[in-house]
Amino acid sequence: MDFTQPEIDHIQNEFNNLKKKAVKSRKKENVELIDQAFDFAYKAHYPVRRKSGEPYILHPIAVATIIADEIMLGTTSIITALLHDVVEDTEYTSEDIAQFFGPKVASMVEGLTKMSGVFNHRSSLQAQNFRKMLLSMSDDVRVILIKLADRLHNMRTLESMPENKQLKIAGETLFLFAPLAHRLGLYKIKTELEDISFKYRHREDYERISKKLAESYKARTNFINKFALPIQANLTDLDYDFDVSGRPKSIYSIWQKMQNKGVTFEQIYDLFAIRIIFTPKENEGPEKAQCYKIYSLVTDIYHPRSERLRDWVNTPKSNGYEALHSTVMGPTGKWVEVQIRTRRMNEIAERGFAAHWKYKGQHDHEGELDKWLEKIREIIESPEASTLDFLDNLKLNIFSPQINIFTPKGELKTVPQGATALDFAYDIHTEVGNKAISAEINHKISPISAKLKSGDQIRIITSQKGKPKEEWMGFVTTQRAKSAIKSYLNKQRAKIVEAGKTKYIELLKTMNIKVNERIYKRLRDQMGVKSKDDLFYGLGKEIITEADIKKLLRSRQTPKWMRFWTIKKDAKNVEESTAIEFNKKQTLNISDEDIKSNLKIADCCKPIPGDVVIGYLDENDIIHIHKSTCPEAVKLSSGFGDRIVKVKWTSHKAMAFKVILRVEGIDSPAIAHQVTGVIVKELNANIRTIHIESKDKRFHGWVELYIYNRKDLNKLIMKLKGIKGLTKVHRENESPQ
Ligand code: MN
Repeated sequence: MDFTQPEIDHIQNEFNNLKKKAVKSRKKENVELIDQAFDFAYKAHYPVRRKSGEPYILHPIAVATIIADEIMLGTTSIITALLHDVVEDTEYTSEDIAQFFGPKVASMVEGLTKMSGVFNHRSSLQAQNFRKMLLSMSDDVRVILIKLADRLHNMRTLESMPENKQLKIAGETLFLFAPLAHRLGLYKIKTELEDISFKYRHREDYERISKKLAESYKARTNFINKFALPIQANLTDLDYDFDVSGRPKSIYSIWQKMQNKGVTFEQIYDLFAIRIIFTPKENEGPEKAQCYKIYSLVTDIYHPRSERLRDWVNTPKSNGYEALHSTVMGPTGKWVEVQIRTRRMNEIAERGFAAHWKYKGQHDHEGELDKWLEKIREIIESPEASTLDFLDNLKLNIFSPQINIFTPKGELKTVPQGATALDFAYDIHTEVGNKAISAEINHKISPISAKLKSGDQIRIITSQKGKPKEEWMGFVTTQRAKSAIKSYLNKQRAKIVEAGKTKYIELLKTMNIKVNERIYKRLRDQMGVKSKDDLFYGLGKEIITEADIKKLLRSRQTPKWMRFWTIKKDAKNVEESTAIEFNKKQTLNISDEDIKSNLKIADCCKPIPGDVVIGYLDENDIIHIHKSTCPEAVKLSSGFGDRIVKVKWTSHKAMAFKVILRVEGIDSPAIAHQVTGVIVKELNANIRTIHIESKDKRFHGWVELYIYNRKDLNKLIMKLKGIKGLTKVHRENESPQ
């Protein structure tokens, strides 16, 4: 549907607003470029609409406005933001963009296209995708900032998405993008992302807290006014250009505090902080000193809680944040947090690194930004940084406050709180960490596991013989150290596994056993190892000896029916190829010797070698041998046809089987003796029990005996039939012969 006139006017207004906000693109040639990018994007997206129904082009305009106004980036980023969805959503290609706007913009748009592909088409693996996204940052950090702006606008317009998508996007935003924004020092964006995510994830809590905030607004304003009054008077006297405001904490951070401390909304005393933002005066010394001057002015009025002074003016946070924070006793006996910042510091606090461009020359934060990017790159490029593991560590590093320590030369370094001497060693260089044996902290020898404190001066002592140990994993805290140790240990392990594998193959070869999944599974089940690698590792380390394996495999010489398992032909991967299936077509040739292990003679029909039998494979991989005429076998054949196998059973007379013979005839005193005599003569006394009853001149009874096979049994029955007066003889469960 074509756009209506009001819609066209709206688009034009939004675009004009963007140009007004693009303060860094005032030059004529820049304005022209932005105009061209807008025309290009407009045509490319025309006449597509968003889910909300509004023209699609409003989205790239909004993203570009965030870039220009809230993150304060320049022309290249604004153009890229305007074009960020063109390659993904329209027929235009990266080459088209390169042709009109040059290779830089084209490669940035390409980066963004790849990223949104990752986020749109996957429902899980978010951390892994996020890692990829961060990796593409190596090209240009602005791509990440535009992605953040894109996400911010999508969050602002999340209402028109279906609920399941809302939850997915809100979750991703809370766990991936908000921490990223925080780490980049974009507090305002971070807070907004958190609050919107929270709203969709916990709607009721969100509404409850925002209602309470609104209700307490008046009381809060009164308090702030009362608190600020003497400060304002003093600052005015000193002729400062300043603002005193009281900004409430974000809804999400209030909720978090309520959750973490188990308190009610009313019990949170620091719902807001008082912010004093001022323009430093010229000729009054450095801005640091002026911050302290105002601090002392405030503490002349309100008593400070001494241990609560936090100085990020002298040592800014690693994300660039600068301010002086203090907690003072307010007029109503409540502790109040006061934050003192210059306008420049405030700008950086809210808008992040990019904002410092506005103040270029005064202060150089480019180095800080580079340093941070370097850190992130280390984390994401580390081979161990897989999926969620990586995210946890990222979050850990993002949220844990940093402490400052000093090198032996007095150089200042920041490490996360809780970091140990070994973490610091790895921070210097992987090899320093790997070879570390102890540390010297404040000129005292300490173990490498010693936790560092702010202000510590530390030297790492290394030795050529030093090498990472398993237990190091127990105390290091930084991702960098963990990865390095893990990767060293894994390499060592891999060598041992490889050696174990060679041993295993050799051993099986000497035992004349084919190397296959069945063998491995048998060993696994009997030894309780979790994987092949574990088995090989055990062998390599000689925790498992060759003799152990020999014993296990000999105790149950490879049964023949193992050959009945064939690897699934359509197996797509290694895991699946262990899914073996039963080959029904073959006949299983067994001998009585096989009975010792995975074969079981069915109790119901008690077959013996020479009987016509079938095999039934149960779920424990045990084959039950039934006579083919056994009613149980008939039942199994009809119910589990695919688990029935043809069996040919030959006898080597290695094992005898129990058989019960029923006998009947005309009673005579010698009958029992005669029956026993025949059996003993025929079979060499393999009778277990004989039981004969006489009644009305007839007898009947049974004999339990052991016999090798059907042939012997038939011979015996013939002989028994030769006894005078014995009229019937038959095997139990079989009709009389
Ligand atoms: Mn977009």
